[in-house]
Amino acid sequence: MVAPIKTHIAVVGAGIIGLATAFRLAAAGREVVVIDPNEPGSGASCGNAGTLAPYACAPVGNPDVLRNLPGLLFNAESPLAIRLAASPSLVPWLSRFVRQSLPAAARRNGVALAGLLREAMPAWRELADQAHVTNLLRYEGCLYLYREKAPAKDSEWGARLRNEMGVRQKRLTAAEVAEMEPALPPVAGGLLFPDAAHIIDPAVLSGRMAAATESLGASFQRARVERLASQNGGTIRLTCGDRIVDAHTVVLAAGAWSQSLALQVGDKIPLDTERGYHVEFDMDSPLIKRPVSPIDLGLYFTPMLGRLRVAGTVELGGLAAPLNPARIALLERGARKLFPNLGPMSGQWLGFRPSLPDSLPVIGRSRHGGNLIHAFGHGHLGMTLAAITSRAVVGLIERRNDPPDLSAFAPDRFG
Ligand SMILES: Cc1cc2nc3c(=O)[nH]c(=O)nc-3n(C[C@H](O)[C@H](O)[C@H](O)COP(=O)(O)OP(=O)(O)OC[C@H]3O[C@@H](n4cnc5c(N)ncnc54)[C@H](O)[C@@H]3O)c2cc1C
Repeated sequence: MVAPIKTHIAVVGAGIIGLATAFRLAAAGREVVVIDPNEPGSGASCGNAGTLAPYACAPVGNPDVLRNLPGLLFNAESPLAIRLAASPSLVPWLSRFVRQSLPAAARRNGVALAGLLREAMPAWRELADQAHVTNLLRYEGCLYLYREKAPAKDSEWGARLRNEMGVRQKRLTAAEVAEMEPALPPVAGGLLFPDAAHIIDPAVLSGRMAAATESLGASFQRARVERLASQNGGTIRLTCGDRIVDAHTVVLAAGAWSQSLALQVGDKIPLDTERGYHVEFDMDSPLIKRPVSPIDLGLYFTPMLGRLRVAGTVELGGLAAPLNPARIALLERGARKLFPNLGPMSGQWLGFRPSLPDSLPVIGRSRHGGNLIHAFGHGHLGMTLAAITSRAVVGLIERRNDPPDLSAFAPDRFG
């Protein structure tokens, strides 16, 4: 056994949440050790759609989704699927999800999410500037597409909530969509979110954030945290194989893998994963200027460095099962519905969104030890929320009392 590494703060997990947090802490002059068995940013933070989506306050579980759930689950072309082998273990998560999709709970969750999202973009501008990654962001908005028929104004639950929360959204005619994105086939209409942005390569962004954090003096340990335990004297001991890290404060940011680590200190958090996929097509110049999402396909098409990425879908099925080729085929069919002349597929990927049944992240101190801070469960919005979450975590560590209000994200909200 090698001598324990002693540090003020250990960050478990080097996804976008852990990296943004470690960067801010290192920039504030704190002693930081980041622990991850894998390359920084190679989890969910690598293959996502790259959209910074401050408009997305409608929780995944909402009355519209609930009403359409049977159709979504039993249609082979649907963006939602359940792996039957994993379904018994999913029952508790799904029953909470259904309860959280009822109107009052969904509205409460949407209001909480909107509060955090309101600060997401200013926080990103500040973080990107400090970490010198601004040139990887594009502020071009995001476009929903209605291919067949645009819905009547405010007929959807999410649109009404966005209006109520003051989200800027602009309805576009078919001609306006064609003017903004000339390579698209004719559509019935669109909805533009002008305050959205996108990352042109999430993996490159993570790599640059890790390098910036290291250059500020943080150390990166390639190791898997297996045990996490409070010690007499108030420190937390992390056991990673034959390596031990003793930290005054630990930030748990291990994405979809955080649940078992939180449980070791007695925090029972109903975290599961919504598996998602992407396919990519290499191209010299991008077909589109901004992320576009044909609503009926449930996919995002994002222009990335040297390629088009088509990402999305939700597969409930746990962390262990391998990539499902049927989901890749579904994405490829979806991609070619919008752009029939795409060349051969150049990449495919499966990733694990860390998801709570109420679509809210867990951000806050463990109730079993105040120097363990949870920062995981960002579901569909981890890229969008990384800058504001990391700012909030640093605020907790420094015991500042500035906003945002984190009560809706408390680790003990599930009882
Ligand atoms: C298809 C798809 C599309 C998406 N599109 C978007 C989008 O457009 N916009 C958006 O905002 N979000 C999007 N998301 C969601 C976003 O990608 C995630 O919410 C976000 O990446 C989660 O970041 P994270 O740091 O919590 O987790 P991760 O990036 O998964 O990082 C967790 C890290 O923890 C490490 N780890 C695991 N176990 C241990 C351990 N025991 N010890 C130490 N380290 C450990 C892992 O190796 C990993 O590096 C999408 C997700 C998917 C799957």
